[in-house]
Amino acid sequence: MADQDKELDYESTGLIYLLDADAAVQTVFEKTGSAVCPFCANDKWLVESSGEGKADPVFVIKDPRGHFGPAPSIPAVALSCSNCGFIRLHNIAVANRKG
Ligand SMILES: [Zn+2]
Repeated sequence: MADQDKELDYESTGLIYLLDADAAVQTVFEKTGSAVCPFCANDKWLVESSGEGKADPVFVIKDPRGHFGPAPSIPAVALSCSNCGFIRLHNIAVANRKG
């Protein structure tokens, strides 16, 4: 099996916090809480969610060409402007990075 075919087991490697979308949203709001939409100046943001009160990660595909496994992607949280719908993305791993 080629290295790129192996799935990274985030739980056993201790990296699970890197995919914690709720923690990332909390950090993003702590650091950018007063940010306004660059298009309409609205300051209300909606978190992409399954509707159960938990943020859902979205995956930004880095390489759209065909792969045997999942395409390389960046896990992110998506915040939508509640007025115009502009979507902003924050890298979950960066937001949850310790130190
Ligand atoms: Zn807006």
